[in-house]
Amino acid sequence: MAANQPEISQAAPAQRSGKHRVVIIGSGFGGLFAAKEFKHADVEVTVIAKTTHHLFQPLLYQVATGILSQGEIAPPTREILAKQKNATVLLGEVTEIDLANKLVTSELLNRRTVTAYDSLIVAAGAGQSYFGNDQFAEFAPGMKSIDDALELRGRIFGAFELAEIGAARGENVDHLLTFVVVGAGPTGVEMAGQIAELARRTLKKDFRHIQSQKARVVLVDAAPQVLPPFGEKLGEKSQAALEKAGVEIVLGAMVTAVDERGLEMKFKDGTVKRIESVTKIWAAGVQASELGKTLSEQTGAELDRAGRIAVNGDLTLPNHPEVFVVGDMINLNHLPGVAQVAIQGAKHSAKTIKARLAGKPEPGAFKYFDKGSMATISRFNAVVSVGKIKMAGFIAWLMWLVVHLAYITGFRNRLTAVLHWLMSFIGRDRSERTTTMQQIFARSALERIEGGAAGLVSEPGEMDALLEERRRELEEQALEEARLTDAHERGVAAQ
Ligand SMILES: Cc1cc2nc3c(=O)[nH]c(=O)nc-3n(C[C@H](O)[C@H](O)[C@H](O)COP(=O)(O)OP(=O)(O)OC[C@H]3O[C@@H](n4cnc5c(N)ncnc54)[C@H](O)[C@@H]3O)c2cc1C
Repeated sequence: MAANQPEISQAAPAQRSGKHRVVIIGSGFGGLFAAKEFKHADVEVTVIAKTTHHLFQPLLYQVATGILSQGEIAPPTREILAKQKNATVLLGEVTEIDLANKLVTSELLNRRTVTAYDSLIVAAGAGQSYFGNDQFAEFAPGMKSIDDALELRGRIFGAFELAEIGAARGENVDHLLTFVVVGAGPTGVEMAGQIAELARRTLKKDFRHIQSQKARVVLVDAAPQVLPPFGEKLGEKSQAALEKAGVEIVLGAMVTAVDERGLEMKFKDGTVKRIESVTKIWAAGVQASELGKTLSEQTGAELDRAGRIAVNGDLTLPNHPEVFVVGDMINLNHLPGVAQVAIQGAKHSAKTIKARLAGKPEPGAFKYFDKGSMATISRFNAVVSVGKIKMAGFIAWLMWLVVHLAYITGFRNRLTAVLHWLMSFIGRDRSERTTTMQQIFARSALERIEGGAAGLVSEPGEMDALLEERRRELEEQALEEARLTDAHERGVAAQ
């Protein structure tokens, strides 16, 4: 909270009707679908989130690469819930959850709001993890928010502009035309594929001094394969397709240093390699919301290394049947951090609350129905894994198109997304190439205001040990992901 400003506390205005009060933290997949599930219920719903929008994260990479606008993937939560009369939307960052007194405290600038609940659904998601190297963020932004995507858009298109100026002066611009994506999961693969396409198709005729199609796109991961959650075979196919699209793939490489001009990677045999690259994108790890920590402290529920909280089978917290945690924040039965886990968990929690209020039997343990995973590699090429069906290519891409269209919120956004896709995939245009100085430099400015990231840098000796441990963890995690997918074990309750 800003110094010298009065703190304003109040009870949320929607809390005076005497009805059962459901408070939902987050307006992402978990939060929004939970709120909607109460549409016809005789309860009072308050959705508290730190952003004004519901973000469709799976398409962030298309905002970053100029295909879609931010509005198309991030409609205002207030607008989505406008017709749901029992729902109130409150903008603010939740800073405290008091389980004993059933209170949630949120802050917006100097306004502090305390909201009382009878039932609580926590769906605050996850942020980017730099595995203890938060100082990397300044030079390799992650992709978790609209701010991130717009900043990356500015950096990607800006790098081509700088290269054009440098080339006109006869300078070496290889570092400007080298793009490195760290993390070969779905986000990294989609991002690398799209940058390659941007360079090879969209920008091909736009410059006079550089040949954009010669840009280098490198995808780096410490794991031994790309797309571990899709299993080994699809991983291999995806790798071949990416390479055909012009993406260089470097596996078994742990990123150990990142700076303005490039990054360093360390291999298992101890070799260190450096790539000179001005534009780096971090798509390598997630860290669950900090709110998990306060819930863990108050209930004794364990947190794993990614900050995810162990919940009961019905998604409640130990000794707090009125508190549910859903989505990316939970650690339950190897469930992956994907939208369907959040959506289905949110619906399950809402159904449990409604059953209790109606005096009906509760649905009991949460059973995840795995609808499969998909990722695009390039135009007309995707990978899909649904149960035993695994495919790559055009049909998979069509499936990707239909599913993503179905989940974009709002008819208007679906319509404009289709138009933008037609322009980008059949034509070669991208209509959302606008970038601003604020988008590119705001992060650095904010970091300076907040005192910089210098304090986060650890001692050099300390780092080496941490990194080796991290490499082992990442390798094990990737192998486990591939094993779970190949063995169809995902989401099966532990015996
Ligand atoms: C780039 C990217 C691509 C992805 N692609 C796919 C994909 O193709 N398929 C797929 O299934 N999944 C994908 N995912 C994962 C999927 O988006 C998540 O699993 C899903 O969003 C999790 O839902 P959630 O409700 O738990 O969290 P989120 O959707 O992240 O929502 C969290 C909400 O909580 C709010 N919040 C956080 N902290 C606070 C706080 N302290 N106070 C108030 N509000 C707070 C946020 O503003 C947000 O509204 C992708 C994720 C990313 C980042």
